[in-house]
Amino acid sequence: STIKQRYESTDGPFISLEFFPPKTKLGKQNLTARMTRMTALNPLFITITWGAGGTTAKKTLELATVAQRELNVPVCMHLTCTNTNKEIIDEALKLAHEADIRNILALRGDPPVGEEWETPSESSEFQHAVDLVRYIKEKYNDDFCVGVAAYPEGHCEGEADGVAQDPRRDLGFLKEKVDAGADFVITQLFYDVEKFLSFEQMFRNEVSADIPLFPGLMPINSYLLFNRAAKLSHASIPQAIRDRLPQEYHSDDNKVRAIGVDILVEMVEEIYKRTEGRIKGIHFYTLNLEKAIAQIVTKSPSLSKILEEDKEDDLVEGVGEIALVDGNTLEED
Ligand code: FAD
Repeated sequence: STIKQRYESTDGPFISLEFFPPKTKLGKQNLTARMTRMTALNPLFITITWGAGGTTAKKTLELATVAQRELNVPVCMHLTCTNTNKEIIDEALKLAHEADIRNILALRGDPPVGEEWETPSESSEFQHAVDLVRYIKEKYNDDFCVGVAAYPEGHCEGEADGVAQDPRRDLGFLKEKVDAGADFVITQLFYDVEKFLSFEQMFRNEVSADIPLFPGLMPINSYLLFNRAAKLSHASIPQAIRDRLPQEYHSDDNKVRAIGVDILVEMVEEIYKRTEGRIKGIHFYTLNLEKAIAQIVTKSPSLSKILEEDKEDDLVEGVGEIALVDGNTLEED
């Protein structure tokens, strides 16, 4: 079923989970087992990322297809539309449709790491995410429920030229995506709840009063990763959070994660309290890790209601330690 249908059938609270396709066969096996355990958290949907330019096309489609077939949870496949061929987009949509995947997160994409941004040529059909939203809706009508991205602190475009991030600058373009038929919106990760709350107000007043908006949160799994993810996403870290993670803890992942769980629980509670029913669900960027999320859900008074009691034990038993592989890839097994 579609995210829109499931959203309309619940008052929340609920969560949704983002995964990325692992590189190795073992990684894939581990992840499939983990995703199965994480269904104990009753996610409203799960999403599978897409490597910019189609670099993970095969792996993304494979993981999305297996998840859709085996997990009994609606799957949303991410798809980017720039620095790529139209054939890749067409093929991905066709295969996703055949696999009964009914949700697509329509994105523009970024330049490959370390490479220059190939500015989409004037003639290219896809310049911005809105072009992909229009394309999918024209070709498939409402067969696909389409989501788009939003940036509570503003998208980083132009930063290199000294243009500051400003959520207000993107708002018209976000409205354009919604007017083009987007059915739901997921935000970039953030750690400053006040910034999200002020964005949410603008969004409700100026973009849509009722379209589903999912705040995106990334658990703090290690100091290194937390800092790096915030930097890459251009998310600011409030001083109050920095103060809770002093330097002497930085190399102690267990300590950082435990404090991180408390921080995330407080963020979740604040979001629910202050949005008075306008936000029903929280989207978690899992980094393919389950431990911190299991703990956040268990500790959050709002989210703990979603746990299936008999499955809770599986979840906790099934998680192990986190190891940082080659300073870049995280594995938790
Ligand atoms: P757009 O909506 O096109 O916006 C990009 C920029 O262009 C913004 O600054 C906007 O203000 C501006 N803009 C938009 N429309 C216009 C217009 N008509 N005229 C002028 N300016 C305009 N990347 C991946 O590669 N794979 C993923 O799986 C992935 N998943 C993501 C999931 C989420 C929830 C989020 C928030 C991001 C994700 N990204 C992913 C990153 C995303 O591709 C980048 O952030 C990208 O830079 C912008 O994508 P967008 O869809 O928001 O673009």
